[in-house]
Amino acid sequence: MTVYAASYDLENADLCPAGAAKLVEIHRKYEVPATFFCVGQVVEQRADDLKRIFDDDPLFDIQSHTYSHPALRTSPIQGPGVSIEELYIQVGRAADIIADVFGHRPIATRSGGGFYRGMQGEPDRLKVFVECGMKYISTDLRGPFDTIPSPFTMPYTYAADGFPELWELPTHGWHDNVLKWGGHPTMFPPIYPFAGRLDVVKTVQEDFEAAKPWVDYAVEQGLPYVGIVYHPWSVYKFDPDCGTIDLLLGYVKSLGLEVITYTELYRRLAAGEIKVG
Ligand SMILES: [Zn+2]
Repeated sequence: MTVYAASYDLENADLCPAGAAKLVEIHRKYEVPATFFCVGQVVEQRADDLKRIFDDDPLFDIQSHTYSHPALRTSPIQGPGVSIEELYIQVGRAADIIADVFGHRPIATRSGGGFYRGMQGEPDRLKVFVECGMKYISTDLRGPFDTIPSPFTMPYTYAADGFPELWELPTHGWHDNVLKWGGHPTMFPPIYPFAGRLDVVKTVQEDFEAAKPWVDYAVEQGLPYVGIVYHPWSVYKFDPDCGTIDLLLGYVKSLGLEVITYTELYRRLAAGEIKVG
């Protein structure tokens, strides 16, 4: 049975707290959890607001989105990646700050931007994540040639690079900011019939309808999960009521899909409760 893995990349000090407050409200309405991957610097700057918004509610899982959102490896779209020394700061400092503010040390880092095939072939970098206590990373967020949307890549471990315990949990579909404001290379022909479009979305309904076929496809194919990239700043800037997420969660629930956090997805994978590959 397909599950919907809910996550948000919280990265903008001005708009993300307001967006997160609305998203928290919507998730509470549907009684479904979510992971918020938070940029350490934003947590530093908005600690009081974010603590108040998440309020130790067990529905919300706080993980890391690096310290300041640089490219964690070299890629065609993001250019040169940070040095190994800087990577320790990006992963380690963010984890320290989140532990300090929220009282729980994160076990996951989602990279800024993301990469085709995640951190595959980068054992020196993978070692940094493991040494900083990461159990899973979410970096495989793009399609071939680092295009968006990202295909239905299923989770895998980095065993081939020497880290069999470290999991990669990819995301699927559009990054919602790209869908709303464009300006990013996409694949032609599209990977799936529903993955190509010429225009950005203009209404909440259109935004939801662009995400819906990704959920439907996962269900039709019997995939273990689907997880789409959303940003609190982006859904909030597009619509201060974050209506896209209201429609999406309502739809997911109407299909009878379970909604889980990325961390719960990791737990089930590591425990062998969800099988992939
Ligand atoms: Zn980001």
